[in-house]
Amino acid sequence: MSGSLAGVSSAAISAGGERSGQVLQSIASASSTAQGTAAITAATNRVSMSQIQGVKKPLLHANSFTGERLPKYGVETCQEDELGKILEDIDKWGIDVYRISELSDSKPLTTVTYAIFTERDLLKTFNIPPKTFITFMMTLEDHYLKDVPYHNSLHAADVTQSTHVLLNSPALENVFTPLEILAAIFAAAIHDVDHPGLTNQYLINSSSELALMYNDESVLENHHLAVAFKLLQNEDCDIFMNLGKKPRQTLRKMVIDMVLATDMSKHMSLLADLKTMVETKKVAGSGVLLLDNYTDRIQVLQNMVHCADLSNPTKPLEMYRNWVSSIMEEFFQQGDRERDQGMDISPMCDRHTATIEKSQVGFIDYIVHPLWETWADLVHPDAQDILDTLEENRDWYNSMIPISPSSSSNDLKEEDYPGDNSQDAPEEELCAAADRIQIQFTLDDEGSGNRGPPGDARGEDPTM
Ligand SMILES: [Zn+2]
Repeated sequence: MSGSLAGVSSAAISAGGERSGQVLQSIASASSTAQGTAAITAATNRVSMSQIQGVKKPLLHANSFTGERLPKYGVETCQEDELGKILEDIDKWGIDVYRISELSDSKPLTTVTYAIFTERDLLKTFNIPPKTFITFMMTLEDHYLKDVPYHNSLHAADVTQSTHVLLNSPALENVFTPLEILAAIFAAAIHDVDHPGLTNQYLINSSSELALMYNDESVLENHHLAVAFKLLQNEDCDIFMNLGKKPRQTLRKMVIDMVLATDMSKHMSLLADLKTMVETKKVAGSGVLLLDNYTDRIQVLQNMVHCADLSNPTKPLEMYRNWVSSIMEEFFQQGDRERDQGMDISPMCDRHTATIEKSQVGFIDYIVHPLWETWADLVHPDAQDILDTLEENRDWYNSMIPISPSSSSNDLKEEDYPGDNSQDAPEEELCAAADRIQIQFTLDDEGSGNRGPPGDARGEDPTM
């Protein structure tokens, strides 16, 4: 995997280009434009053709773990006891990752992942030196952007811990190999690294460097993977160094398959395949799922990480509401930027007109509930409590939809969507709701992956 364009002699790629307002230390030293940078061009070409935007250079050694004693929970903290108490719930759905963040000097991802690796004994199984593991995790966490309201390391910690819980589903007992478990947890931990807080569609519409690099296809997801695999090459960061060539290759393929499947434009086809699997479900004698080929196994893992990524509405209401505030702030910041740049403001991104509660209900009804319902069928009855919480939360948001003068009812029903010609047009509402996780489809074009022409706000999802 390479972040370079072999044969491109301009500094445009390696210099990173503008990152649309994101403050990126990483490119601060290489922020010059393509013109007049002969020296930089020559230097970057000579040094490396594999420079990836967002990877901090020179490599920071601030994250290298050099202490004698490994901290009990992987991070230095003066509230170790309280942190330990919360981490007792590491196997529980709805653990308080916000509190973990507070107790770990804002290192929730390192803390949560270390706890999971320790509990699963993955360090020993794969001969990962604990110091290397902590150095990698700190470096990874450092590459999640702190000033991005939602897609920061707290979200990564949440998705990692949620994936860990889903892996423990009794229906999946002994189904996955340790390597597959390692891959799933690693994929969850890296899945949004260096997220700029902007959607794929925005990056495409604004002709960003990233969209150029990945030819508009799963732009962010490709970038997260490239950054993560690049970080493994840092000094003291290669946690897979003792894995052997074949397992490394297998792990890399699985991680790529899982992270690319977090692109919401893949949601419909992923769900369709999961439904087919549920219909033809094979169960072993002990009642656990029978998955006897790579396609089936990776499909379950892809859906698992995708479910974890879409698990906010299944969490305790207070936590769910916190996630909603931060994703909305992220959207609004994109909307502000679109307004400033004279672009069309993506649905739900306009802080002056957004209807948050309504779009959460639409998001649940059209995206989250169908997915979780199918997952719950697959692992029946293991996910029943999760599904119950989702339905309660859906009803709460539904009850909170403000009655607007333009609508006679505040009860948003499925049949209200098609043919609803109000200002909050159906696709727009739906896409808007889905935007919180970057979706790309319309009611007419579900999951085909086809896009309308750029800027055709009605023919495609304009936001993701
Ligand atoms: Zn995510």
